[in-house]
Amino acid sequence: MSSPVTPSSNDELFDRARALMPGGVNSPVRAFGSVGGTPKFMVSAKGPYITDSEGRDYVDLVCSWGPALVGHSHPDVLAAVHAAVDNGLSFGASTPAEAELAQLVMDRVPAVKRLRMVSTGTEATMTAIRLARGYTGRNLVIKFAGCYHGHLDGLLASAGSGLATLALPGSAGVTAATAAETLVLPYNDVAAVEKAFAEHGSDIAAVITEAAPANMGVVTPDEGFNAALSRITASHGALLILDEVLTGFRTGPAGYWGLTGGAADAAERWTPDLFTFGKVIGGGMPVAALGGRADVMDYLAPLGPVYQAGTLSGNPIAMAAGVATLKAATAEVYATVDARSAELSAAVSAELDKAGVDHSIQRAGSLFSVAFGTSATGVHNYEQAQAQEAFRYRPFFHSMLDSGVYLPPSVFEAWFLSGAHDDAAMDRIYAALPAAAKAAAQ
Ligand code: PLP
Repeated sequence: MSSPVTPSSNDELFDRARALMPGGVNSPVRAFGSVGGTPKFMVSAKGPYITDSEGRDYVDLVCSWGPALVGHSHPDVLAAVHAAVDNGLSFGASTPAEAELAQLVMDRVPAVKRLRMVSTGTEATMTAIRLARGYTGRNLVIKFAGCYHGHLDGLLASAGSGLATLALPGSAGVTAATAAETLVLPYNDVAAVEKAFAEHGSDIAAVITEAAPANMGVVTPDEGFNAALSRITASHGALLILDEVLTGFRTGPAGYWGLTGGAADAAERWTPDLFTFGKVIGGGMPVAALGGRADVMDYLAPLGPVYQAGTLSGNPIAMAAGVATLKAATAEVYATVDARSAELSAAVSAELDKAGVDHSIQRAGSLFSVAFGTSATGVHNYEQAQAQEAFRYRPFFHSMLDSGVYLPPSVFEAWFLSGAHDDAAMDRIYAALPAAAKAAAQ
């Protein structure tokens, strides 16, 4: 693939970036802190491939950390964006495309009765928490250790993602008063949730949970866990916020909820009060949203007393990308991603077995990750995720990178596939696996 900029040395680019930006990056996990080495500077991406500044291409298993579900630079998405750009970049006023995207979301996730567009997942969860507090008149929020909901102050304790990668328990700069308003509980532990509600029930505004955690590596919610959260919150007058920023429109047309509580054949049907979305909803542009019960959502300004706003919310270019991405995310795309994910995770497991590397494959729908040294129990919570042999990922990651496969630079992140990952791309990954598995064994 041709590169749109003059190739320059990756090391030079990193040196320049480090002199200009903290750590040389604008988001910490990009810094390769836990895998070592110099982060790759990328200049273009198409289909399943991403190309660095030196003109080398990689099969991309990061997919922009999720958004690129239909593959990079999908022709329909690019055409929609180009057409929108020609009409102007931002109007600071309502546009028809906002309602079009909202309608597509509601067609897929019928439990969403109202939607508010924002620009990042962090804004979506921050607003959902404020809304839950405003609606219930209560202060406390329950989150689970290892779940990441963005970088808002109140939810950074034991937050997985970059904090897990950097082994940070939370963030400096969060006041004790803010931290005290969040109760952090072990994931998959219904008894802990019941105990917290028994002790503080009338003060708890909401429970927030990733629909299926994917920021401590992937962890499957135990059968009935999310349903129990729904039951317990409802019986105490608190709200359940299902964070589908990562899983939404990726693990299926209606996200992870669509595979579980919202599935027609669910053993127990349940519905959260609020959802948060991001990533795929914008197809690579800055779009996120919160949505859910109409009576709760109508507590937002201008109808209600809970304030939220954004200069670039519902930006017309971003909306166009989101609309085109959801339209391009056909049943065939989901079938491809599901099948590729099943094949790839089995192939990774087989090669690790051959190399004698103890591991478990952690799955939630099409999302998966590898946890090293955990075959005895698998990973069901943050404590187990942190106890794994994370050091094995570093040589595994670099061996794959050297063979032209770009994995997430942290063992605590999911591997992302797209509908564009074709046989040629998969074959390159399969060819790279034996050496990487051997490297992990050392
Ligand atoms: N919620 C979840 C589950 C996420 O995975 C993320 C980001 O990875 C966020 C929220 C925050 O989204 P953003 O990075 O767009 O602020």
